[in-house]
Amino acid sequence: MSEHSTEASSLFPTYARFPLALVKGEGSWLWDDQGNKYLDFMCGLAVTNLGHAPEQVKQALVRQLDELWHVSNLFHIPGQEAAAKLLTEHSCADAVFFCNSGAEANEAAIKLARRYHQQVLNNGRHEIITFTQSFHGRTLATLTATGQDKVKEGFQPLPAGFKTVPMHDEAALEAAIGPQTAAIMLETIQAEGGVLPVDPAFMHRVAKLCEAHGLLLIVDEIQTGLGRTGKLFSYEHYGIEPDIFTLAKGLGSGFPVGAMLAKKPLVAAFGPGSHGSTFGGTPLAMAAVKATIETMLSEGVVDQAADAGQYLLARLREQLTDNPFVREIRGRGLIVGIECDGAVGDLVAAARERGLLVVTAGPQVIRLLPNLRVSRDEIDQAVDILVGLLAEQTVTTRGSKA
Ligand SMILES: *Cc1c(COP(=O)(O)O)cnc(C)c1O
Repeated sequence: MSEHSTEASSLFPTYARFPLALVKGEGSWLWDDQGNKYLDFMCGLAVTNLGHAPEQVKQALVRQLDELWHVSNLFHIPGQEAAAKLLTEHSCADAVFFCNSGAEANEAAIKLARRYHQQVLNNGRHEIITFTQSFHGRTLATLTATGQDKVKEGFQPLPAGFKTVPMHDEAALEAAIGPQTAAIMLETIQAEGGVLPVDPAFMHRVAKLCEAHGLLLIVDEIQTGLGRTGKLFSYEHYGIEPDIFTLAKGLGSGFPVGAMLAKKPLVAAFGPGSHGSTFGGTPLAMAAVKATIETMLSEGVVDQAADAGQYLLARLREQLTDNPFVREIRGRGLIVGIECDGAVGDLVAAARERGLLVVTAGPQVIRLLPNLRVSRDEIDQAVDILVGLLAEQTVTTRGSKA
C-alpha cells in the first residue's frame, strides 16, 4: 500500500486510486507489480472488450507502427474510410467523425445537433434535453449535459442550452420541450448512474416526441455500444434508430479513440472547417478500430456476449435471491449491476483482495463489466467470490444489528 501512496506524487489527485499498480494483461487476467493475479471484471471501465492484448488488434497495430503513425486530416486517410465503412454498414448511421474520447464524441454530437438546426434548418434551435443520473463526460458542455450534480460542483458558470429532466417522467419531458429544443440525448442504460436501463415504453415515447417536435435523438453508446449489451449497438434492443450516436471506450480495444455517427440528413451540417481534431482518426487509431470491429464480427463476439450475459445474470440471481443485502440484480448482456442495501465500497475492495476486479456505479451498486469473450469458468470464479463476500456481508450486517 505504501508503495502506491499518493503523497509524493507529481500528479493531480483527480482519482481515488486503488492501492495497486497493474503491469501486465492477457485475456481476462491482469497482474500487479507484486506478481499477484486478478480476474478483470471491469475492463478499464468497458474498454478492453476483447480482453487484454487481443492478438488481432495487436498485430494490426504492430503492422501500422511499421508504416505510418500520424498524418493530418488535411490528407485522405484510407484507414478512416475503411473503419467508417465498417461502422456505417453495421449501424443506422451514414457518416462517422473520429475523435479521441467519449467526451469529445458527445461534444461533436452536441455541436452537430446545434449546427443542423441553425444552418440546415435555419430555425435557431440549440437546447439539448438530458436526464437525471445520466453521464456524458467531463468537458464543460458534456458535464453540463450530465444529470449528476457532483460532476458540476465548482465549475460555474456552465454553458447555456441544457435542460435535465427526471428519467421516466413523460410529463416533465413534454413540459421541457420548447421552441428552442434541438435534441434529446440519453444512454440506453445509465451506466455510471447505477446500471439503470431505460424502460422500452419510455424510450418509444422519447422517439415519438422527437418525431412530433422535429428533435434529434442522440444516443450515448459510449459504454453500452459495440457488443456490451449483447447487440452491436444497444439502441437495437428498442427497435429505434437514433439520428446521432456516440462511441468510444471499447472502440479501439484500449487504444484511445472516439466516434460520432449520424444519419444522412445531418451529414451536410458538418462541412469543411466546421469541426476538427488534430489526433482524430490517425492511422494507428484506425488500425485498432478496424481490427477490433472485424474481430467482433468474424468471431461472433456479440452473440458470445449475449450468451455469457444471460449465464452471468442467471448464476447471480440463482445464488443471491435469498441474500437480504441484495436488492436487485439488473443488466443486459455483459453490463450488470448488483444493487445492495448499503454502501459497496468495502465489498469492491474485499473482492480485489480475493483477486477479482469490479467497480461501483454509485454508492450502492456493484458493476460488472467483464470482457465480451469471458469464459463460463471465469464467470463461475467471479460469481463464487461475489456470492461469498455478499454472504459474509449479510452475517456482519445481521451481527451489527443484533
Ligand atoms: C465513459 C463515458 C463517457 C465519457 O467518455 P471519456 O472517454 O471518459 O471522455 C461518456 N458517456 C458515457 C455513457 C460513458 O460511459
